[in-house]
Amino acid sequence: MDPSPPDDERGILSDPRLQKLVEAILTLASGDLSARVEPSEAGDELDAVITGVNLLAEELHYVYIELEERVDERTAMLLRTQAELEQLAVTDVLTGLPNRSILSNIATRAAHETAVIMVDLDSFKEINDTLGHDTGDTVLVEVSRRLKSAVRGSDVVARLGGDEFAILIRDTTEQEAVQIARRALDALQENVSVGDVSVRATASMGVSVGPPDWPQRVRDADIAMYEAKSRGRNTIQIFRPDMLDATTERAKTAAELRTALQRDELELVYQPVVDLGSGHAVGVEALVRWNHPTRGVVMPGSFIPIAEDLGLIVDLGRSVLEQAIAQMGAWVDEAPDLPAFTVHVNLSATELRRPGLDRDIGSCLKTYGVHPSRLVLEITETVLMTRGSEEARMLGRLNDLGVSLQIDDFGTGYSSISYLRDLPAQTVKVDQSLISTIDSDPDQAQFVEAILHLISSAGLSAVVEGVETARQAELLRGMGCPYAQGFYFSRPVPPERVLEVLAGFSAARG
Ligand code: C2E
Ligand code: MG
Ligand code: MG
Repeated sequence: MDPSPPDDERGILSDPRLQKLVEAILTLASGDLSARVEPSEAGDELDAVITGVNLLAEELHYVYIELEERVDERTAMLLRTQAELEQLAVTDVLTGLPNRSILSNIATRAAHETAVIMVDLDSFKEINDTLGHDTGDTVLVEVSRRLKSAVRGSDVVARLGGDEFAILIRDTTEQEAVQIARRALDALQENVSVGDVSVRATASMGVSVGPPDWPQRVRDADIAMYEAKSRGRNTIQIFRPDMLDATTERAKTAAELRTALQRDELELVYQPVVDLGSGHAVGVEALVRWNHPTRGVVMPGSFIPIAEDLGLIVDLGRSVLEQAIAQMGAWVDEAPDLPAFTVHVNLSATELRRPGLDRDIGSCLKTYGVHPSRLVLEITETVLMTRGSEEARMLGRLNDLGVSLQIDDFGTGYSSISYLRDLPAQTVKVDQSLISTIDSDPDQAQFVEAILHLISSAGLSAVVEGVETARQAELLRGMGCPYAQGFYFSRPVPPERVLEVLAGFSAARG
C-alpha cells in the first residue's frame, strides 16, 4: 500500500492558502486580532474554513474592543469614586467647603503671618428650631456661597461644623484681614430667601492675626468671636489679649448666675408704654436687672444669653413672671382708682417650649388676683414664625387664657409681613433700629410709616420702642402710630416708683 496520503489531501497540504491560514491563526493566537486570510476564488472547503476563521477573528476583535471599553469605563468609575471618597473626607457634604481637618492641614503649612476669621451665625438655632432643618440647610449653603464670594482665591473658607465657619488668610496683615472680614460681614447683610420666608443670617466674627501657629490663631479668633457676640452680634472683633479676661468673666458669670436665682438677686424695673394720642401710660414693660453683690447692676444683655446657654432661662423666666404678676397685684391693691394698665413680660423661645407654661401663668394670675387681660407677653419675632408647631400651640393656649401677646423687636428678624396676619398676637413692637434715624432720614421715616400701615392693615396694633427725642415722638404721632415707649417718655424705673410715674402721665397730659 502506498503510505503517502491521497492526491487530494496532498493537494491541500501543499496549498499555499493553508500556509497562510496557519500563519494567520498563529498571529491571532499571539493577540493580534487584525489578521485575516483572503479566501480564493475556488470557493472550496478550505475557503469555507478560511471564511470561518475570518468571521471568528472578526467576532473576537469586537468582543475584545467591547471588553477594553468596559475596562476603561470601570477604571474611570473607580478613579471617580476614589476622588469622591477623598473629597468626602476633607469636605463638608452639605456645603462642599473644606472641613476643620483640611483647614488645619493647610494652615500648618503656612510660613508667614496668618489670619483666621472665626464666623458664627447669630440666630441659626432659632432658624433651625422654628423653620426646620431644611431651611437651616439652605441658609448654610447660601452663607457658604456668600462667604466664598467675599474672599480672594487664595483664602480658604471652611465649615467647622454647625453654624461655624472659618476663613484662613495666609501671608497677610491685620489691615487686610479686617478688610476681608468686613466684606464677609457685608455679604451676609441681605436676608436669605427660603421659599416665601426671608431669613436674616448675619454672623459674629472674630479675627486673629499673627505667626502661623494654628491652634493659637483658632483659640484667639474664637475668643474675639465671643466678644463680638456679646457686643450685640453682627459685628467684627479683633483679638486683644484683654479679651481673655472677658472669657474668664463669662465663665464666672455663668457660675454666679445659678446662685443669683436662689438668692433672689434678680430684680425688675418697669418702663411705661405710652398712648401717643392721649399721652397716658397704658402699660409698663418689666425688664430684668441683676443686682450683683460686687458688680452692682448687671444688664440683661450680658446674662440672658448665658442663661439661655445654661438652660437657666426657664427658672429665670419663671421668677420674672411671678415677680411681675405679684407686683401687678400689689399695684392694683395700692391704687384701685388708677386707670387700668398692663404689665409686659419678655418671654424667651425656650420658655415658650416648656409644657405647662400656660398652666403656671394661669395659676400665678389666680394666686395674686390679677386679671389675665392685665398681662402682655412679649415674644421676639423669630419665635413666632412657626405655624402648627409646639410654640404656636402654646401661643394659642396662652391666648385662650385671656393673656395678650406682643411681637417684640419687629424688623430685626424675618421681614415677611404676610405672616403677621396668621399670628395669634394683638400688638407688634417695632424695633428701635428702625426708628432711630427717622428724624434725620426722610426715606427711613417713609419706610416706618409703610410698616405701621402694614401692621394696622394686618389687624394689629403697633408700639414703637426706643423713642428718645420729642421729634421722633412727634413724627410717629403724625404717622398715626398708636403707642410708643422709650427714654423720651421715661427710663425704666424701680417698682416703688411706677405708680407715681404713671400718675404723672395722667396728670401732665390730662
Ligand atoms: P427689649 O424687650 O426689646 O427691651 C427694650 C430694651 O431697650 C431695654 O433694654 C430697654 O431698657 C431699652 N430701651 C428702652 N427705651 C430705650 C431708648 O429710648 N433708647 C435705648 N437706647 N434703649 C431703650 P434692657 O433692659 O437692657 O433689655 C434688653 C433686652 O433683654 C430686652 O429687649 C429683652 O429682650 C431682654 N430682657 C429683658 N428682661 C428680660 C426678661 O425678664 N426675660 C427675658 N427673656 N428677656 C429679657
Ligand atoms: Mg421687650
Ligand atoms: Mg425690643
